[in-house]
Amino acid sequence: MNDSAAETSVGALYVVATPIGNLGDMSRRAVEILTGVDRIAAEDTRRTGRLLQHYAIQTPMFSLHEHNERELAARLVEQMAQGQTLALVSDAGTPLISDPGYNLVRAARAAGVEIVPVPGPSALVAALSVSGLPTDHFVFEGFLPSKQAARKARLELLRPESRTLIFYEASHRVLDCLKDMQVVFGVERQAVLARELTKQFETVHAGSLQTLLRWVSDDPNQQKGEFVILVEGEQNAAAHDVNAEAERVLSVLLEELPIKTAAKLAARITGVNKRALYDRALQLKETQS
Ligand code: SAM
Repeated sequence: MNDSAAETSVGALYVVATPIGNLGDMSRRAVEILTGVDRIAAEDTRRTGRLLQHYAIQTPMFSLHEHNERELAARLVEQMAQGQTLALVSDAGTPLISDPGYNLVRAARAAGVEIVPVPGPSALVAALSVSGLPTDHFVFEGFLPSKQAARKARLELLRPESRTLIFYEASHRVLDCLKDMQVVFGVERQAVLARELTKQFETVHAGSLQTLLRWVSDDPNQQKGEFVILVEGEQNAAAHDVNAEAERVLSVLLEELPIKTAAKLAARITGVNKRALYDRALQLKETQS
């Protein structure tokens, strides 16, 4: 009996990571598990079908996506409790990471079903590992809201965060997202754009938000594909402590003066950090426009 048969002889849920682009990243264990289980729950059966075909895996498959997951979870858990083995896969990377599976795993755990991770690629870890940004502490934010007001509000909340920030972003929103990040985090905040990881046009570009925004705006090719955006955490939390009085002074000066001069004078008057005031002035101007 091979390892996979041994592993799949009792009811269990296998959460199986699949490649995020390069098929060479499929693990041998993932192939064995997908071959050995009774059924595979796939986010998109056509997409997973191509992967299974590549490895000549003939395990029956059904679709489990965000719209039917809640409805199916109880029945699937019951079947696993009775001895069935199920593998959960998403379109790419690790299931549940900005992908379906949470309701199923939660229900399975509540019912005492064995849940086995079969780890492998995930875009967030791949991007972080090559970013050159601090990796000891980080925050994964997944996708930001698609509407600008909500996106900016979320970024505002994250502005003082000192840990490395990691976001997923769709290609049609990457420019808008970088623009909002520049406004909220300031032009100089360091960031990394990780595009098309493990694929033919893999590009990892690091620089200030201003530099990155320019690089993406200037080259339409850099707006295509899949993206992870990483932003360095705030390195000087006190710098962003623009109190109400400093903001009042800044607002008055902004009525008469250019941003840079207003920020400089406000810093001299209030003692608050000049860059923080400059960043705040950009936001105030942006809100007014
Ligand atoms: N579960 C996946 C994982 O573990 O990474 C993520 C799924 S989420 C629906 C898809 C998003 O992940 C994309 O919009 C992009 O932000 C990111 N992503 C996935 N593959 C990528 C790749 N090869 N390069 C860069 N980002 C990728």
